[in-house]
Amino acid sequence: MQKDQLFTRRRMLLAGVAALGAAGTAGVVLAQGGEETAGTAAAPVAGPQARQALKPSAFRLQPLTGDGPPRAAPRRLKVRKEPIMRVSTSGRHMVLTFDDGPNPAYTPHILDTLAKHDVRAMFFVCGECVVQNKELLARMADEGHVVGNHTWTHPLLTELNRREIRSEMESTSDAIEDAYGERPQWFRAPYGAWNRAAFQLGAEMGMEPMAWTVDTTDWMEPGTRTIIDRVEGGAAPGVVVLSHDAGGDRSQTVRAIREWLPYLIDSGYRLTVPRRRV
Ligand SMILES: [Zn+2]
Repeated sequence: MQKDQLFTRRRMLLAGVAALGAAGTAGVVLAQGGEETAGTAAAPVAGPQARQALKPSAFRLQPLTGDGPPRAAPRRLKVRKEPIMRVSTSGRHMVLTFDDGPNPAYTPHILDTLAKHDVRAMFFVCGECVVQNKELLARMADEGHVVGNHTWTHPLLTELNRREIRSEMESTSDAIEDAYGERPQWFRAPYGAWNRAAFQLGAEMGMEPMAWTVDTTDWMEPGTRTIIDRVEGGAAPGVVVLSHDAGGDRSQTVRAIREWLPYLIDSGYRLTVPRRRV
């Protein structure tokens, strides 16, 4: 019974990906350096990745895993030395990401707003939150969102040994597979604090490292207006926006997205999720 449900969810996910492509989001692919965005106003960046944002890096990506069984071994990826911080796009595409959840107090409101505007986003979830809110992961799957791995307990990976990091990542991927129907293909290090082990283990588990371009700073609870200004001011093709749907009082985040999301859409941006390609 449960297995059937997983397969159903998986089919819906695959159908969702196809629908996204048909809707014109196929132009968004992963890239680093963002050459197509060169010349646009510099987006505000924050976090330790900011200094690396303009470094080009050549690489090739593996294709989206096919229609294999849920427990298939993940495809090994090339080990990166730095995370992806923006997407390459030939149009005005942006990617929305929400970290640290799911949280029943905030995540449903964010999902409602995304649904209202027919937008798909990425949720980097923590395993300990997933096991308490499986239904929210199921809803993300049903509504076509992409779920990434954000560790189990949100530790500073640079203070853990390799065995501990593996445990944090593996257990979270297991919980995601159980609740979402598919193992995650993306990983984001807590606090943006990456190390070699995180890149190596992520690649081993078939996950690409995803950072961000614009930090909304919602984790500082700076006021709804400030969050809105950050997103609207940082909007540019290829930008990956970081917000949080857990980890504190996120009511400002919930209110802000109700304003900045329609603004971005009215400004001609298409909010989408990245695809992995060969
Ligand atoms: Zn986080």
